[in-house]
Amino acid sequence: MPEYKAPLRDIKFVLEELLDCDSHYKKLGYEDASLEMIDAIMTEGAKFTEQVVAPINQIGDQQGCKWEDGVVTTPPGYKEAYQQYVEGGWPTLAGPVEYGGQGLPASLSVTFSEMVLGASHAFAMYPGLSHGASQTIEAHGTQEQKNTYLPKLVEGSWTGTMCLTEPHCGTDLGMLRTKAELQDDGSYSLSGTKIFISSGDHDLSENIIHIVIARIPGSPEGTKGISLFVVPKYKVNADGSVGERNGVNCGSIEHKMGLHGNGTCVLNFDGAQGYLLGEVNRGLFGMFTFMNAARVGVANEGVAAAEAAFQGSYAYAKDRLQVRSLSGVKNPDGPADPIIVHPDVRRMLLTQKSIAEGGRALLTYLSQLVDITLVGKDENIKQDAETKLALLTPIAKAFLSELGFEATSHGVQVFGGHGFIQEWGMEQLMRDTKICCLYEGTTGIQALDLLGRKVLGTQGAVFKPFSADVTDFCKENMDIPEMAEFIQPIMAYSKEWAEITDVVGKKAATNPDEVGGASVDYLMYSGYVTLAYFWAKSAKVALEKLAGDTTEQRFYQAKIKTAQFYFQRLLPRAQGHKACLVNGVDTMMSLDSEDFII
Ligand SMILES: Cc1cc2nc3c(=O)[nH]c(=O)nc-3n(C[C@H](O)[C@H](O)[C@H](O)COP(=O)(O)OP(=O)(O)OC[C@H]3O[C@@H](n4cnc5c(N)ncnc54)[C@H](O)[C@@H]3O)c2cc1C
Repeated sequence: MPEYKAPLRDIKFVLEELLDCDSHYKKLGYEDASLEMIDAIMTEGAKFTEQVVAPINQIGDQQGCKWEDGVVTTPPGYKEAYQQYVEGGWPTLAGPVEYGGQGLPASLSVTFSEMVLGASHAFAMYPGLSHGASQTIEAHGTQEQKNTYLPKLVEGSWTGTMCLTEPHCGTDLGMLRTKAELQDDGSYSLSGTKIFISSGDHDLSENIIHIVIARIPGSPEGTKGISLFVVPKYKVNADGSVGERNGVNCGSIEHKMGLHGNGTCVLNFDGAQGYLLGEVNRGLFGMFTFMNAARVGVANEGVAAAEAAFQGSYAYAKDRLQVRSLSGVKNPDGPADPIIVHPDVRRMLLTQKSIAEGGRALLTYLSQLVDITLVGKDENIKQDAETKLALLTPIAKAFLSELGFEATSHGVQVFGGHGFIQEWGMEQLMRDTKICCLYEGTTGIQALDLLGRKVLGTQGAVFKPFSADVTDFCKENMDIPEMAEFIQPIMAYSKEWAEITDVVGKKAATNPDEVGGASVDYLMYSGYVTLAYFWAKSAKVALEKLAGDTTEQRFYQAKIKTAQFYFQRLLPRAQGHKACLVNGVDTMMSLDSEDFII
């Protein structure tokens, strides 16, 4: 099992050198988020994740959650690790001060979460969902609901879930059947079955707060008739203590491909007492608070998986001796050369490294936009951040999930046959990461959201603020000779991005299926171009540092070399996606549904 080391140097690069978190936080009024404070949090966070969370990752996979008589037990060590997580105050980082939180920026919590995810994805999902539940209650709850649930969720003694999926409806939530009937006391009685609920039941916390979508009888069919409810596993007494059991039970847990340490539960609601969150029939609007936070969270899972796979692969590639280098012996004292000398192994390692570090830059930028939307005061700047988030959230969620999964597949490949064997941890990473492409809206659904709703739905207006930043960056750096290899391709790709949008838009005007036919290639194209921008920015910072007085030549040289690899070996993949999408949808639709197998 490879040892997980929190990537503190690169985190510092992204936070402080690339995205100037110091001035970002100061502008938003976060006086406490000084560089010293951030360093201290990250250093302690690294220790916690390396020493407490990483050691339970493999046993969590091997032993998994157990279900017996409706009770879910987490794997050995999970309870103790979660206890330490709470005692360390980790859940409170970005929680609101009035409910016991430390009031630090959301983006810092996202960075800390990357470390928890890198150490153990399955464990990280327990606190991860609690953040989403708190944010949803904070945004849409009544004062009484906030007082009842937030202090416990923020401190971590209660955890949260997100209950959308039902057996017959995953993507199409408009078909949901869970029913919520108004009671005389103003509460609702919920009945129905939810499936695939992550962290739906477990033994880590004294209560579990479910955020549930359901339909009130008489409400419209489809998504317009969905309302949002808060349903505690144990009812909450007037004094805030945990009361009697509510009518929600775990019917079973799934036996699944990965994430064995996280219970994926069937939850049966049998007249469970729930409380309306927000307005009647505005449930999906409320749930979007949760879903947007969760999408950034899933993008982070992709980054964390790429980092963990890279670390494991790199250590192995330096150690494993197989075959002499094509260009002459590199390890004369050994019987063969380490596999890191072989170009193809380097291709895989650099692919992982460029996904992990480029993805971290994109994700951290995204989470700084979230900071602005949460606490920014200037309405124009907030609007600008919201538009950029609308464009970049589906790109980050789907692209970083797909590439994170690719990085784990390279992890298996670098290890050769040993990658397929349990003890090395690579196959677990790959199994654990596949889910990122599925939950929180599959890659196909994120792509439809990007191309159909965000880009074509706004006639391209959603591009404007982000494109303006890219154009400004290119203009500022176009005369710097060392930046030419980055700036010229970005300028060409930005122009082409607009052109292919136009091509798809025109085709879609006569055949709506063209959107669905183009969308995933369009999203991947957009992802490669977006990541190129963050790699170019990283190269710029590294060049400036190298021109100054730095003792870290190797770190900055490695940044530039990885940026060059990205531009020459990964960015060209965008051309393949372009070629596919401009070819249109006809070949996908001409075969009759009955004739796929004859
Ligand atoms: C381990 C795990 C944890 C989960 N955790 C949670 C949770 O905590 N809470 C929760 O509510 N749910 C959770 N889910 C459910 C998850 O979000 C859904 O599985 C996911 O949204 C997809 O829904 P589905 O499985 O019903 O697939 P379907 O909706 O049936 O989709 C099947 C396929 O059809 C494609 N498809 C569907 N519609 C379209 C379309 N219009 N255009 C193009 N392609 C389309 C999809 O992309 C997919 O490839 C979890 C699932 C798993 C496996």
